Amino acid sequence: MKSFDVLRAELSAGTTTCERITSGYLRTIEEKKHLNALLSVFPEKALEQGKIVDKKLQNGTAGPLAGMVMAIKDVICIKDERVTCGSKILENFISLYDATVVQRLRAADAVIIGKANMDEFAMGSSTENSAYGRVKLPQDETRIPGGSSGGSAVAVRAGMSTTSLGSDTGGSIRQPAAFRGVIGLKPTYGRVSRYGLVAYASSFDSIGPFALTTKDTASVFQVIAGHDPNDSTSAEVPVPDYLSQLTKDVKGLRVGIPKEYFGEALNSEIRQSIEKKIDVLRSNGAIITEVNLPHTEYTIAAYYILATAEASSNLARYDGARYGYRKEDVHDLSEMYIKSRSEGFGTEVKRRIMLGTYVLSAGYYDAYYRKGQKVRRLIQEDFTKAFEKVDCLITPTSPSTAFKAGEKMNDPLQMYLSDIYTTSANLAGIPGISIPCGEDHQGLPIGLQILGPHFGESTLLRVADFLETT
Ligand code: GLN
Repeated sequence: MKSFDVLRAELSAGTTTCERITSGYLRTIEEKKHLNALLSVFPEKALEQGKIVDKKLQNGTAGPLAGMVMAIKDVICIKDERVTCGSKILENFISLYDATVVQRLRAADAVIIGKANMDEFAMGSSTENSAYGRVKLPQDETRIPGGSSGGSAVAVRAGMSTTSLGSDTGGSIRQPAAFRGVIGLKPTYGRVSRYGLVAYASSFDSIGPFALTTKDTASVFQVIAGHDPNDSTSAEVPVPDYLSQLTKDVKGLRVGIPKEYFGEALNSEIRQSIEKKIDVLRSNGAIITEVNLPHTEYTIAAYYILATAEASSNLARYDGARYGYRKEDVHDLSEMYIKSRSEGFGTEVKRRIMLGTYVLSAGYYDAYYRKGQKVRRLIQEDFTKAFEKVDCLITPTSPSTAFKAGEKMNDPLQMYLSDIYTTSANLAGIPGISIPCGEDHQGLPIGLQILGPHFGESTLLRVADFLETT
């Protein structure tokens, strides 16, 4: 497991080649197949790409990500490859085009090695909802790696790729990053193009990187951030030089601690680890203040009303007629729709479609959907007020460390509560990063979350980089 920095140094010294780096990852993927982290692997294409990058390195035309090998969550389109979204309904669906993020990574000379396993349509917190089997946590295979981007987190930590991409609608990058002891960045809504990302809840979805170091996170983010005419929600805000912000200095930085995120639900070992890091920031000149986010207790309810409403509408397109799985031997169109959807979708996805349809239905819309929108606004305002006083917030990423497989599968509410500290950033559209923050008594990683104002990723990366070496 080597960071991109180390690989780049080896490439410059001539002790390795991009092709050799790629074949090393392919070997690990083969050895660790039982973890079920990847749903497809592209050995020939990746090695071919590696060779091309080696030529470019020789003639001095290589892009900023030359030497980096990446896994992409299987909800992001890669031309001519399957995009299953972890669902049976898209089992044999082949993408017709590259997502913008994939185009940008290729243009920067990253090698794409495969597609990562995930909860079906990114709905879940454990990767147990994948139609292709759960992903195992390498240090304890009876446990789950978080979700929904569990495959992307495991790929990086298990040495199957240098970095990876995930998607985060309510915590799906940050929570698995925390459970797996890697860094995961969920950017500001609109900072990274969603063109080619299969939609779950369109006003929440964002794409972001997983990496071993802050520097690697920043390197990938630098390439994928920025306006894209193909995504009308992508922002026309200039992209700063993120790497130059990694100054290892937090003097004068105003850090807020939202007391609502340190309540009873939080495991005490996690609390202690986070508090230790807060002390480190304080003793290095950061100004720590307590702040209030008074509507925090409504976060999960608002998220699960609004996200399921959007999902029920987005997933209406999988009807057996246009995409993926179609039930044969049916008598009429309506039977074809019903059977294709009933057999093609898994339990959790069906639950969400039903919930979402219900909250949008006549007679219930005002009580649920409209109310949810109002609460979303209040949560956004909480953050706006907080960021008038502080530059960033520090919280735990998740109330617990990696839980056991099966533990929460029969109790959806318990599963939903594992997103208690992450969904607020998606409701508000703000960026968040999860970084490793020690381990609990069982040796399971703990995650610390840093939240910032819209387009405040530079600050998140600066703090993450500082804490990485303390
Ligand atoms: N676990 C949350 C959900 O199931 C978040 C998922 C995500 O961010 N894609 O909706």
